[in-house]
Order: sequence, then C-alpha cells, then structure tokens
Amino acid sequence: MICVRCSKDLRPPGIHTCCPADKQHLLHVDAPHFHAGAIFFNDTCIEAAPILRWCEGKSYREIAQYAKRKRWSLRVTRIQ
Ligand SMILES: [Zn+2]
Repeated sequence: MICVRCSKDLRPPGIHTCCPADKQHLLHVDAPHFHAGAIFFNDTCIEAAPILRWCEGKSYREIAQYAKRKRWSLRVTRIQ
C-alpha cells in the first residue's frame, strides 16, 4: 500500500505516519453489496480498500456525490 499523498510505502497498511494523524479521517462505506473503508487526509482520499481504489486522490465531495447516486451510506470517523 502506498500513501497517495506522500508516495510512501505503508507498513503496516492503513497507518499513515507520513501524514499528520489529526488531519486524517476514516470513511466507512456501507453499500448494498459491500462494506469497505478509505482513509482521508483533509479532503483527499489517500488510501482505499481495493473495491474503492478509484477513490484514491479524489475529494470527499466527489465520492459523496457518487455515493448519493448509488444510495451508499457513508460514515466518517476521526482517526485520532
Ligand atoms: Zn502520507
């Protein structure tokens, strides 16, 4: 896994010590056929589960608009 923002290799995956933790958020996607997560730094997705890979580099607004059309439920939690 690579941080989209810093291009750093993430070991372990999902831990972005490269980006300030207080600006990271976790997005939980609850879709009819899957549950998955994505990590945001400020407004930009810096890592996403394989099924949401297209979200990486995209803004929360873009993803939320897509989710609304697809009737996905979204939930955002702070990481720290
Ligand atoms: Zn980073």
